[in-house]
Amino acid sequence: MQDQLQTAIAPYCKSVDYLEVRLEQSESTSISFQGASLHAVDRNFGLAGGIRACHKGGWSFVTFNDISDLSDRIEAAISQAKLIGNAQTELAQVTPIQAEVKVNIGNDPRGISLTRKREILERYNQMLLDFDPRIQTTRTGYRDRFGTTYFVNSRGSAIAQERLDVSGSFGVIARNNGTVRQGFDSAHSRTDFDIMQSLDRMVLETAERAVRQLEAQPLKGGQYSVILDPYLAGVFIHEAFGHLSEADFVYENPRMQELLTLGKSIAIPELNVVDDATIPDLPGSMVYDDEGVPTQRKYLIKDGILNQRMHSLETAGKLHEQPTGNARALTASFPPIVRMTNTAIEPGSQTFEQMLSGVDEGVYAVRMLGGQTNGEMFTFAAAEGYMIRDGKLAEPVSDVTLSGNVFQTLKDIDAIASDAVYRNGGCGKGGQSGLPVSVGGPHVRIRNVVVGGR
Ligand SMILES: [Zn+2]
Repeated sequence: MQDQLQTAIAPYCKSVDYLEVRLEQSESTSISFQGASLHAVDRNFGLAGGIRACHKGGWSFVTFNDISDLSDRIEAAISQAKLIGNAQTELAQVTPIQAEVKVNIGNDPRGISLTRKREILERYNQMLLDFDPRIQTTRTGYRDRFGTTYFVNSRGSAIAQERLDVSGSFGVIARNNGTVRQGFDSAHSRTDFDIMQSLDRMVLETAERAVRQLEAQPLKGGQYSVILDPYLAGVFIHEAFGHLSEADFVYENPRMQELLTLGKSIAIPELNVVDDATIPDLPGSMVYDDEGVPTQRKYLIKDGILNQRMHSLETAGKLHEQPTGNARALTASFPPIVRMTNTAIEPGSQTFEQMLSGVDEGVYAVRMLGGQTNGEMFTFAAAEGYMIRDGKLAEPVSDVTLSGNVFQTLKDIDAIASDAVYRNGGCGKGGQSGLPVSVGGPHVRIRNVVVGGR
């Protein structure tokens, strides 16, 4: 297939500044339950492609789903780019790559019947429904997807990459009188269907958390020392800081260029933040990005200092920095844009108990319910909360929303635990939602956080 694509672009490589073709063959299965009823079952076989051309700084993107008309589509992409381009193409230089990346599959989901997949999900769904009479409804899902993406560009790269994703997601709603609480968790594997076989504990804990929160009373709003659990710490660093470190955002925003000047000290020296697609088998892991650039481990913050940002070929070219392998597309039907991969706060040195013992009155915020960011401002609602009193965990509280300015909040981080973990997540940007990423972190303590209550 790569040879076919290379042959197809060969006549056009000299007629524009840059040309690439991506083609993805995929097959997927998804099953979902809502409450006791089977909500949807989908089997999908797809072939989809996208062509990007750049000429004099003008970009075009054209999709196709039949390779017989590829030459016509390439010509369409080229003429569109020529219509738009009126300046200079600034793309970073990288060494052309020829490579093939295979997935080392354990138990292959493509060899497992739809009936079996459904049975497994149905059993988990029933466990949630049966957990407690106050569980009102559920929303559970299973998905597997295997795809091979073929990539060629006018600089001589030709890459074929396989990718497998297997995931289960488990949501519950618990209700008692007027109080409604949610619980959610998910599991993800890049290599093995067997991830789905051992989720009893995760499923039960999801139900347990929702029911337990029915007892929580609304928190009294104010400024508190807050300890974020690893999950929320990871979401915080992805949402509030990570998106600002995507160079397309920086490039378009003069205020951010100033706030995010590399080399600037923005946190305690113990704070290190990485974006690393090279960790094996996490949702955001890959060998080459969707521009064929090798991925790498990057320190966005190193020893409390702004160190690096995430780039596509274009943002690296425009900002005269090195490409980082962060151009990603949701599927071949979308153009690659600057995205995160596996983003995390690195572990520090403290224990959770040590962090608690430094707090007279504070809040322990656990997991994420929802949130939004607007430039440097953020608001996150924790899924669960507990008061911290005299250095110990106390009563559960609800309505825990944390808000603030990300740069002030990073400065106010005063303790980092040694217990970091990665959790799977989905990221949305530029109309491409649900991109597999992971977020990671240890427990993190932050002083003077504005916590809204009721
Ligand atoms: Zn995101």
